[in-house]
Amino acid sequence: MARYIGPVCKLCRREGTKLYLKGDRCYTEKCAFTRRPTPPGQHGLARIKLSEYAIRLREKQKLRRIYGVLEQQFRGYYHNASRRQGRTGEEMMSLLERRLDNVVYRLGFAGSRSDARQLLRHGHVHVNGRRLDIPSYLTRVGDRVEVIESARSFKRTLAAVAGAASRPLVSWLEVDRANFVGTFKGAPVRQELNEPAVVEQLIVEYYSR
Ligand code: SF4
Repeated sequence: MARYIGPVCKLCRREGTKLYLKGDRCYTEKCAFTRRPTPPGQHGLARIKLSEYAIRLREKQKLRRIYGVLEQQFRGYYHNASRRQGRTGEEMMSLLERRLDNVVYRLGFAGSRSDARQLLRHGHVHVNGRRLDIPSYLTRVGDRVEVIESARSFKRTLAAVAGAASRPLVSWLEVDRANFVGTFKGAPVRQELNEPAVVEQLIVEYYSR
């Protein structure tokens, strides 16, 4: 599946919030959004009143960019969520959260979701003892996610683990960072997915218009 490979700090500036796409740099004063919190481009400072449509579009783009998913696949998550019982917006967030690249990132084995994606695309991640290199794999309850031994000494992996120690872990994951192993314990809890804040109802309205 294709992925976005352009500049990412511009995306934060466009969405008007930090999306945490660059790992540790996002928590330092080097963060481009901290230094220049205006939309990118020549007219970044212009004050524009967003239409109702644009408000919903921006919210959709924000969530899509947080998880690094392209439009077609993202729309697929919406349709999948709309067929499930429960609130579509919350189901959609839950599906995104279960992606393997996201789980590797949340466990702290990678500094960002794109780093996590690279780690597993290169075959450095095992799920239940078997190599799994599909970033969109939906993790299930009881899945055991492990970074293989040869990748544990990578500078990026070590830096990610050190950085993650200071961040809270979500309740649906269990991690043993000393052994680079984590377990997916249960369904993601919407209330814990508030950094950065997303109003998922606006996204549902965008797709059901
Ligand atoms: Fe760049 Fe991260 Fe700051 Fe976003 S939060 S502007 S990705 S450094």
